[in-house]
Amino acid sequence: MSAKTYSIQKREGDEVSSVADFMADFVADFTPSIEAQTNKPQMIPVRHLEVPTTEDVDKVLAIATEDNWMTPLIKYIDKGELPLDKNAARRLRARVVRFTLFEGQLYRKSYSGPLLRCVTTRQGGDILSELHEGEYGNHSGGRILANRTLTTGYFWPTIRADAANFVLLCDKCQRFTQVSHLHPEKLHPTLAPWPLMHWGMDTVGKLPITSGQ
Ligand SMILES: [Zn+2]
Repeated sequence: MSAKTYSIQKREGDEVSSVADFMADFVADFTPSIEAQTNKPQMIPVRHLEVPTTEDVDKVLAIATEDNWMTPLIKYIDKGELPLDKNAARRLRARVVRFTLFEGQLYRKSYSGPLLRCVTTRQGGDILSELHEGEYGNHSGGRILANRTLTTGYFWPTIRADAANFVLLCDKCQRFTQVSHLHPEKLHPTLAPWPLMHWGMDTVGKLPITSGQ
């Protein structure tokens, strides 16, 4: 069974009942002609949609609401909220002097460079990946990678450990890292029994005698 859909624009000020009347007329007009064509009784279902199916509905965007390492710092700087635990509150007060909040974004003050944008550990993983193996990645070691991330302007507390772990797990670094060419055992020098006595080794081999010789 095939179905056909007709749409009728509901005008501003139209009552639902007037639309229903219109539909009734529409069905009355069309049914006989369709029945004449197919020679079968036809049924036209009429559905009244309150909301057009094609209209864009308000998008629902997922917002990360889970707490991360920045949450207590932001809460304290923004609203003056401290943790209930006395020791944790003291540690937070000592730590917060190195951070600042600008337009809702937390930044860490650095000694000589610009303010470092604070990111979550997950975002940090993406940054490490981009700096290590991305477009301008150079597959540097863990220490250099961490320093490069800091000079690029990002900060999260486990940056150094994360950078070291990231390099350890990089497949290319494992395959092509510099291999030590040091001999696994001690070398055995060949000593001359008396001065000017040398062992020789012919690496070319016996040369064929040519016609002129
Ligand atoms: Zn690598």
